[in-house]
Amino acid sequence: MSGKARPGYVTVRGAREHNLKNVDLDVPRDALVVFTGVSGSGKSSLAFGTLYAEAQRRYLESVSPYARRLFHQMPVPQVDEIDGLPPAVALQQQRGTPTTRSSVGSVTTLSNSLRMLYSRAGDYPPGQELLYAESFSPNTPEGACPQCHGLGRVYEATEASMVPDDTLTIRERAVAAWPTAWHGQNLRDILVTLGYDVDTPWRELPKKTRDWILFTDEQPTVPVYAGLTPEETKRALKRKETPSYQGTFTGARKYVLQTFATTESASMKKRVARYMVSTECPACRGRRLRPEALSVTFAGHDIMELARLPLQRLARTMAPYAAGTAKVSAKQRAEHPEKLIVTQRIAQDVMARLDVLLDLGLGYLALDRGTPTLSPGELQRLRLATQVRSNLFGVVYVLDEPSAGLHPADTVALLRALDRLKAGGNSLFVVEHALDVIRHADWLVDVGPAAGEGGGEVLYSGAPEGLKAVTASQTRRYLFPEEAPPARAPRPPQGWLKLAGVTRNNLHRLSCEFPLGVLTTVTGVSGSGKSSLVSQVLVELVARALGHEPEAAPEEGDELEQQAPETLEGHITAGLEGIRRLVRVDQKPIGRTPRSNLATYTGLFDHVRKLFAATKTAKSRRYDAGRFSFNVAKGRCANCEGEGFVMVELLFLPSVYAPCPVCGGARYNAKTLEVTYRERNVAEVLAMTVDAAWDFFADEPPLRRALEVLRDVGLGYLRLGQPATELSGGEAQRIKLATELQRAARGSMLYILDEPTTGLHPADVERLVAQLQKLVDAGNTVIAVEHDMRVVAASDWVIDIGPGAGEEGGRIVAAGPPSTVATIADSRTAPYLKRFLA
Ligand code: ADP
Ligand code: ADP
Ligand code: ZN
Ligand code: ZN
Repeated sequence: MSGKARPGYVTVRGAREHNLKNVDLDVPRDALVVFTGVSGSGKSSLAFGTLYAEAQRRYLESVSPYARRLFHQMPVPQVDEIDGLPPAVALQQQRGTPTTRSSVGSVTTLSNSLRMLYSRAGDYPPGQELLYAESFSPNTPEGACPQCHGLGRVYEATEASMVPDDTLTIRERAVAAWPTAWHGQNLRDILVTLGYDVDTPWRELPKKTRDWILFTDEQPTVPVYAGLTPEETKRALKRKETPSYQGTFTGARKYVLQTFATTESASMKKRVARYMVSTECPACRGRRLRPEALSVTFAGHDIMELARLPLQRLARTMAPYAAGTAKVSAKQRAEHPEKLIVTQRIAQDVMARLDVLLDLGLGYLALDRGTPTLSPGELQRLRLATQVRSNLFGVVYVLDEPSAGLHPADTVALLRALDRLKAGGNSLFVVEHALDVIRHADWLVDVGPAAGEGGGEVLYSGAPEGLKAVTASQTRRYLFPEEAPPARAPRPPQGWLKLAGVTRNNLHRLSCEFPLGVLTTVTGVSGSGKSSLVSQVLVELVARALGHEPEAAPEEGDELEQQAPETLEGHITAGLEGIRRLVRVDQKPIGRTPRSNLATYTGLFDHVRKLFAATKTAKSRRYDAGRFSFNVAKGRCANCEGEGFVMVELLFLPSVYAPCPVCGGARYNAKTLEVTYRERNVAEVLAMTVDAAWDFFADEPPLRRALEVLRDVGLGYLRLGQPATELSGGEAQRIKLATELQRAARGSMLYILDEPTTGLHPADVERLVAQLQKLVDAGNTVIAVEHDMRVVAASDWVIDIGPGAGEEGGRIVAAGPPSTVATIADSRTAPYLKRFLA
């Protein structure tokens, strides 16, 4: 380390990661440092790519000499020197969907505390032995209900589930659960040999026959005569002709259950799961634990009941035990004084941790809630709350937009939690767009001025007030607005889409009217019910009414192990005639493998490949457009099969990806790369940013238009070939929006968006709103769940849900134009909205 270090500061010299332009920076430790700038300006490259990456590298180096081997794989940030950097913990928003099965209880480790509590201080039935804490976990053999193995549900294959259409014959694949292709044919041929009638509709077969085919455990091996009719087979058998082969029969249920239990192919498992039905486990009644564990209670509840309570109610239940004021019998006090002390200790610890969670506005969650159903913002706040209680000292927390998904009223609590971490002797580096968080900073680092090549400089580093003098900053104009936004007259609704009897999560028989032909924002604190109403019920009802295909189920994770889907309650009573098509623009990834990217998803790449195929070289070599796809064998690199990367297996450690040694990450074979369009090969085009491509394809109107809309939604900084797996939820959402925008909008479309401004700088928000207004002007309806009050103020109609979260929400508190909602006394949104209205 050099002697240049400034005491109490982290100093960075010569940072060049991604678009950073040889940046020097000094930021204070033990302070809240907020990094701002438009999307793509380089905030993350500085906070995560440089500072966090380097802290992580040094940490690994210090703890594990073995990990040193990995450094050749780990990216070394492009920077000359960093001094004064403490170890770092990153609380980054999850990209894509979480793959592991975890719950609120496991992420916060509160489940462990509860198990300890039940083990040591629970009320046991007379004569029962004390249980270990593990016995209260459905994920251990000691705890899991033996009948359902801790799943809470049991799965069965029934005639109805395996034979969905009983008018079909066996030859027509009545037994749909059986494998397709060769194996299925084989099973049918065996039935022919066995003398079963495969040409009579299933429902006309005798019950005994149907039961044997479906449910038998016998596995007879018989000669099979492939391709022969039943009559011919009979004759062949009689004459003892040489069969095609010997085939072994498997009953349909046996096949389904066995495949489900043993297959390693996710798609196979998914396929057979379709032919099973699940019911609540009769032994544990869905509570997943052994009877002994369920017989232990605390405050009158078994542990699963406690795990199902919203944290708010859990806190109310625990409070008297923590305070030592809970009613316990004089007998217990006299006989088990030690138990009371243990109870109080554990309860106090649980209460302290619950306090932080409640303070962060997460009191509506329950411990048994699975993390896949949480938004990335909720997950990040859960992890933040866990850190606040961890009593780490002297570390730097690097956070990515912690305010995402937070109503302004919740942001206040977030700032308190950040202050607590800071007061505990830690540093906070936060990438943020919310003005309330930016104003709260001790130190501001504004990166810019624009995105990509146009950014990468530190425009300002210092106390927030100082930014006022920096004219190049795009953040300045929002942090220090010179004039109120112009007053605008809301558009009048053109009709109403009416829902009634809506019941889902915390909504109970709710009626709600959405205006058509205008821009509506749906507001409310986190957990009030906005997504339940808009992203779930509204989407499902409209999709069903319009006869859309239901949305594809998530590909990852085990479908059957996910929470059972809620039944859809509610109906549309009016207004459907005003909607031609539903377009949902959500934050789900645009693809789950590096094979899909911005260019393939938007359709841009089809044009690009055609341009390459039309070049002289391509024509002379007879290369068609397919040659320029990395998903087609002829043109791609054979070594990595067009991935650009190869997986390197490491002993004891997760495998890492390394650039393909043959193509160097270009994805194509050398022959393909010889073809150039205006002196660039196809790999070079994929490496261009949207902005660069917009210049490059200046005389290709269709491409230019598609690129234009991507720029309009603030994505000019993305590379065309940026893999889907590297995109944030907000970026995925804006790519979907851009894709929709470039389709000729013919009006009467219903666009539904969930927090479209996540990850956007106020300047980008302004451009996004302009796009949404354009959609409405073209005769469409836009409904967006939103927290950014500038967007709410710019909408025509506001539906405010609440007033609180979970059980304290779920009602419509106010509905009307922004100026009306801003006056409603019960609305938590009103005071914040008021500030943005002229
Ligand atoms: P911000 O956090 O301000 O939105 P980023 O730091 O993510 O900006 O991006 C800054 C620039 O670096 C952008 O032009 C972006 O496309 C580029 N960039 C980001 N990540 C990568 C990467 N993994 N490889 C190459 N370029 C990247
Ligand atoms: P918002 O979108 O306003 O943040 P949500 O609609 O996500 O609120 O949540 C409303 C209530 O429904 C909360 O109490 C939440 O915990 C509950 N909830 C939401 N999704 C689920 C789910 N998949 N399973 C169980 N409860 C849920
Ligand atoms: Zn069970
Ligand atoms: Zn390769």
